[in-house]
Amino acid sequence: MNFLEERIMKDGIVKPGNVLKVDSFLNHQMDISLMEEIGREFKRRFADKHVTKVLTIEASGIGIACFVAKEFGVPMVFAKKSKSINIEGEMYVAEVESFTHKNRNQVIVSKKFLSSDDHLIIIDDFLANGCALQGLISIAESAGATVEGLGIAIEKGFQIGGRVIRNLGYDLESLAIVDAMDAETGSITFREQKW
Ligand code: 5GP
Repeated sequence: MNFLEERIMKDGIVKPGNVLKVDSFLNHQMDISLMEEIGREFKRRFADKHVTKVLTIEASGIGIACFVAKEFGVPMVFAKKSKSINIEGEMYVAEVESFTHKNRNQVIVSKKFLSSDDHLIIIDDFLANGCALQGLISIAESAGATVEGLGIAIEKGFQIGGRVIRNLGYDLESLAIVDAMDAETGSITFREQKW
């Protein structure tokens, strides 16, 4: 088991409805040493990439993305959730359905902060059905930016997102891939990884 898998086993809580709660160390209270280690691990996995920016989505991607951006020495940009509709023109816009809140949000990034010169690593805390990542990929495409890779802390391998994104040909790295989990027993099974 790697450092993140060990921490999930120690402090993660399996909830009904295919939700893994990691809010004591990853996306509410944050263990900063763990976040640093996550940043270093993504730098190692994407060491051969030319990266100009890290892109994520608010809110829970931001913490991780900061540490990844620090490792690469580049800015971090996050897509904001927005209710306003009169924003086309200055903003790149995508529709994202929230797995945890079950609602749809427009997410926006100012055109000032992404361009066709950019080479991106896209980061998020979780990958479930892949809506958040698809929204971020669509924003990168609108900007004409190159997606060098996508980094996820925890992929739920029993949901379709990972397969969809990999089938599109993207370099997707997930530090922990949960292949099965059970809310009744609390058991979690991780996929073997090459790293
Ligand atoms: P997707 O768009 O891939 O369906 O879902 C990814 C988004 O939903 C992530 O940004 C994450 O915030 C949230 N999410 C999905 N599954 C879980 C989960 O099991 N636990 C938590 N805490 N968040 C999740």
